[in-house]
Amino acid sequence: MLPIEDKRENPSTVYDAPHLKGVKVRSLSSLIVADIAIVGGGFVGISAALKAAESGRSVVLLEGHKIGWGSAARNAGQVSAHSSKLEPDAVVRTYGEVYGPRMNAAGASAPELVLGLADRYGFDVSPVRGGIVTGAHWRGTADKLRNRAAFWQDAGADVVWLDRAALADVVGSNFYYGGVLDRRAIAINPLAFIYGLAAAAVRAGVQIFQESPVVGFEQQGNEWLVRTAGGAVRARKVIMGTNAYTGDLWPGLKETFVPVRGYQIWTKPLPEATRGTVMRGISAMLDTRRLLTGMRLHPDGRLQFSGGIGFGAERTPDFKASFERVRQILPQLTELEVEGWWSGWVTRGIADGWRLHELAPGLTTAIGCNGRGVAMGVVMGQALADYACGIPASDLVLPFSKPQRVSGMQVHRPVGALVQRYFGWKDRRELQQEQSFRRRDLRSAG
Ligand SMILES: Cc1cc2nc3c(=O)[nH]c(=O)nc-3n(C[C@H](O)[C@H](O)[C@H](O)COP(=O)(O)OP(=O)(O)OC[C@H]3O[C@@H](n4cnc5c(N)ncnc54)[C@H](O)[C@@H]3O)c2cc1C
Repeated sequence: MLPIEDKRENPSTVYDAPHLKGVKVRSLSSLIVADIAIVGGGFVGISAALKAAESGRSVVLLEGHKIGWGSAARNAGQVSAHSSKLEPDAVVRTYGEVYGPRMNAAGASAPELVLGLADRYGFDVSPVRGGIVTGAHWRGTADKLRNRAAFWQDAGADVVWLDRAALADVVGSNFYYGGVLDRRAIAINPLAFIYGLAAAAVRAGVQIFQESPVVGFEQQGNEWLVRTAGGAVRARKVIMGTNAYTGDLWPGLKETFVPVRGYQIWTKPLPEATRGTVMRGISAMLDTRRLLTGMRLHPDGRLQFSGGIGFGAERTPDFKASFERVRQILPQLTELEVEGWWSGWVTRGIADGWRLHELAPGLTTAIGCNGRGVAMGVVMGQALADYACGIPASDLVLPFSKPQRVSGMQVHRPVGALVQRYFGWKDRRELQQEQSFRRRDLRSAG
């Protein structure tokens, strides 16, 4: 199955947001002429629409479901001060001396970007400040995190390496060897963020049509006809912001990444006695294990954490295994009770980060985000809007690159499942090694 074939309703998640005000649910039923047509109502699409409309262009945005149906409202709400999962020095190696620093600068100001937009357009994303911790699950990953802290400290950022004791004070257990606390990062309500941006886009003049899946593009001279089942938009420029939910709209595009389903689980509020013992004063935490691990504590005491990954149809996550993973880190959480769960898709790709493509003259896309899309999706959408409005490609945060197919896509599910098992084995082995290092440290200290 393709991600776009998931059930049509928006998911029920831990995020409450006021009703999406000012954005009518209407589907396209006529031919409209605009400067720019946008496909997808996630962070990329909505931000591109808002920026282009504010630059004086007429914009029509077509969302196949309802705003927030894609990963925009299915994510963990962590806004790290990084442009991708790559370490900042690897960002420079991957994107080069010109674009690497631009990507790092965009990542570094991502939390400010989100808060600035909320402030500017007058909506509340319920930010949880204090920073995001990345714990080293064994000492083999400590250098990577120390280097990360040093890189950002050199740039004057508030990012610190914490040894085991200092980290234990913050996290609430001594599970980790040590870790990095990036005090710039925040956690937000992503549903409120996408709703706030969509409402701002409508106020700026964007025409949003929901329940309007785009079924095809047709080039007519120097214009594009963007067709839905009930109507069409004729525009000089087209921006696609469909990321992991990219279907067959553009030949080969969905073969440029491996879609991975990520699950999120949230619990009933933790008992008062234990609530104050975990994640003190921080926004969220992650760690260096290969298998997705992330947690955040909401101000009302509900714990939200990753519930594993999958490659096919949505299934109820394995709560027992997920609780065990949480208790491995925070053993004091003996009373965990599930309140709900949901899932959404991310992309795993070749460079494992955002890519910009000009698929044909006037038709662009930003794609390939693997879990750093809340703020960076906005950055990418704004970049595509700038380009559509005449800013030269060389001024953008990333260059346009040629789409590259991932080889072996036909077998990505069984291979993905095998890789997942291997990663789990590696993570367990490293944790065991860390235990034996600790016993050796104790013996030599005693
Ligand atoms: C479980 C999970 C946890 C995550 N956690 C984080 C996190 O903590 N921090 C972070 O920064 N990122 C996180 N992410 C990633 C982040 O949510 C995504 O990178 C981001 O939402 C991508 O934005 P987008 O606009 O490109 O795509 P999306 O938000 O997915 O939007 C794409 C939209 O395109 C629409 N669409 C597709 N095809 C068509 C068509 N033919 N016609 C019309 N519309 C179409 C879809 O309906 C969808 O609404 C997470 C993602 C998941 C799934």
